[in-house]
Amino acid sequence: MSQMNEKAATVPGVKTMMERLIAIPSISSASAEWDYSNEAVVHLLASWLEPLGFDLEILPVPGVPGKFNLIATLGSGPGGLVLSGHTDTVPFDDKRWQSDPFQLTERDNRWYGLGTCDMKGFFALAIEAAREYVDQPLKEPLIILATADEESSMSGARALAAAGKPKARYAVIGEPTGLRPVRMHKGIMMERLKFEGRSGHSSNPALGRNALEGMHEALNELLALRSQWQETYRNPHFKVDVPTLNLGCIHGGDNPNRICAQCELHFDLRPLPGMSMEELRQAILQQVQPIAQRRELELEFEPLFEGVPPFETAEDAALVKACEALTGHSAQAVAFATEAPWLQKAGMETLVMGPGSIDQAHQPDEFLELAQLEPAVRILKGLIRQFCL
Ligand SMILES: [Zn+2]
Repeated sequence: MSQMNEKAATVPGVKTMMERLIAIPSISSASAEWDYSNEAVVHLLASWLEPLGFDLEILPVPGVPGKFNLIATLGSGPGGLVLSGHTDTVPFDDKRWQSDPFQLTERDNRWYGLGTCDMKGFFALAIEAAREYVDQPLKEPLIILATADEESSMSGARALAAAGKPKARYAVIGEPTGLRPVRMHKGIMMERLKFEGRSGHSSNPALGRNALEGMHEALNELLALRSQWQETYRNPHFKVDVPTLNLGCIHGGDNPNRICAQCELHFDLRPLPGMSMEELRQAILQQVQPIAQRRELELEFEPLFEGVPPFETAEDAALVKACEALTGHSAQAVAFATEAPWLQKAGMETLVMGPGSIDQAHQPDEFLELAQLEPAVRILKGLIRQFCL
């Protein structure tokens, strides 16, 4: 253990950092009544990072009031390593928690609290790892990145990618993966398809244009496309090794004896790495447009949210190799999506790896195993040594 230097002594220990991060509600949600600003979390992180010598950039997310990204940089120059986390959490179900979700509670060798593993806790560990190096000259910068709105719109990561920030060579996102490196995940798309025709008396089909019949044809086309994609694309790294398309909900019509004037379908698509979201949308449009034309139906087809692209970093990438060596695990694929596609888009070789389990994320009684703390700090220090020193 290197001698505790003056700068490092200004920052509290891991448990205190974790307590203070958990105590600040920073839920993000598409429903306004659940949505909080993340400003207080960003300022708390800044208050620890500044005395350690980090340069701070606090960037308001354009068009999203009260939301901020933080880029904290130690050292300078091209290249460097980003340790990235999101400052927000999901909403919580108060009645199902055994302890206060905003109070770090220790029991059964675990720390319980909302955001312990997903993933405000990661910041405490990243800062703990960083503090050992604050007085050493870094060859390449160490950047701690804290983003907004990962759990809702990913607006923070989208804004960073649009601005091409931060500039670095490597990025590790500390989502809960049980400290196993993750180099790929599927994308997420949620789409809305609507046909509008004209109602009329059911006794004479010529009196109207039936949106439900149009949808029936469209459903067949969607399932045919799904089969086609599942025959074309397969990736054995994933538990579900093909792209999926789920018909989620459908609404249409009002009465058996009226021609159905409107029918709307919502569906979800999970593309594999290598599949382009835009091409998928075009392929769907090519099938449903002729149905609308032939049946004289108005067609609306649009995303319900902007979507998360699939993500993949090459097996032989330097960061993948480094994380595999530090953890003793080979890089894998996961079933959840992250901000990785946007950090990649900003130019960084990106990997997902952090303490805690995704099984506890988004659940009542979210926790982080105490046994994960020391290995997490050790692995992060290893990355800093390898990529910054
Ligand atoms: Zn997360």
